[in-house]
Amino acid sequence: MTTFSNHKIVCLAGGVGGAKLADGLAQIVPPENLTIIVNTGDDFAHMGLTICPDLDTVLYRLAGVANEETGWGRAGESWRVMAEVGRLGGPDWFRLGDLDLATHLTRTHLLRQGESLTAVTRHLCQKFHVQTAVLPMSNQPAPTMIESHGRIYPFQEWFVRKRWQPPVSHIILPDDVRVPAAVSLALERAHIIVIAPSNPFVSIDPILNVYPIREMVMDVPRAVVAVSPIVGGTAVKGPAAKMMREMGLAVSPTAVAQHYGSLLDGFIYDQQDKGQVDSAAMPTLCTDTMMYNQEDRRQLAQTVLAFAARLA
Ligand code: GDP
Repeated sequence: MTTFSNHKIVCLAGGVGGAKLADGLAQIVPPENLTIIVNTGDDFAHMGLTICPDLDTVLYRLAGVANEETGWGRAGESWRVMAEVGRLGGPDWFRLGDLDLATHLTRTHLLRQGESLTAVTRHLCQKFHVQTAVLPMSNQPAPTMIESHGRIYPFQEWFVRKRWQPPVSHIILPDDVRVPAAVSLALERAHIIVIAPSNPFVSIDPILNVYPIREMVMDVPRAVVAVSPIVGGTAVKGPAAKMMREMGLAVSPTAVAQHYGSLLDGFIYDQQDKGQVDSAAMPTLCTDTMMYNQEDRRQLAQTVLAFAARLA
């Protein structure tokens, strides 16, 4: 097995799909050589707390405390606080478990003391014994908005409260968000960048939209590869396929590859879609990309890095 001990690897990740590949990478890349840059476009303030859904999904997955059924939240969670919030007439549409609430309380407390989100995330990683660097894409708020029939929804209003049903006409990303120093440094040093099989529009685009991450990714000397989140004509989970249809795109790995365009040096898509992606446009790899367990995650990470290393 190649251990990739000489390569600096950066992975761009959203929540569920991103966390799975991040975990696979963390199994084979020494922590000093791996950085996960995570979308914070989904973050929001709720009941006075700063909630960072994708950062927490990655954190819990890497810490081995993720809920295996949902892919988000913690294993062995209890819901006493939320049940009582509901009984008292408080907002219970965004479900926060008791253990998960401890994360949000601690994060919010540290942010209010003046710590940056980067520093708070590092603190939480230490407490969860996660050695891999997990970095928020920015320390500034960078809220993603969803436009539907002329109405603009903050992301979680659309995603959770409206169960991603209002059709998407446009995704609005902020135009004044800057990269934190730690992210810049990781991108400068990267030999390989892996774009996880995350939602391209609301997980990866918000990261690329942080100035100047897109430009820095373009400059990576070795290889930038992406894994398709679209498998067998649909999304494995969540709204990616529905959004693509509503925005007039084909629901296919090809459309994902075209969306990333010249950013990519190589593209990995699932064996269920064999032969569908034109390998004349760029190097492609067709393989099993479904990650059901820890071994699948390690195997896919190994395949992805071997492919990227060959593209040098
Ligand atoms: P979110 O922020 O929690 O929605 O998470 P992400 O954006 O990181 O991940 C959602 C995307 O991951 C969806 O578009 C899924 O299709 C994709 N996904 C989830 N699990 C897998 C998997 O095992 N394999 C592949 N190829 N894609 C996956």
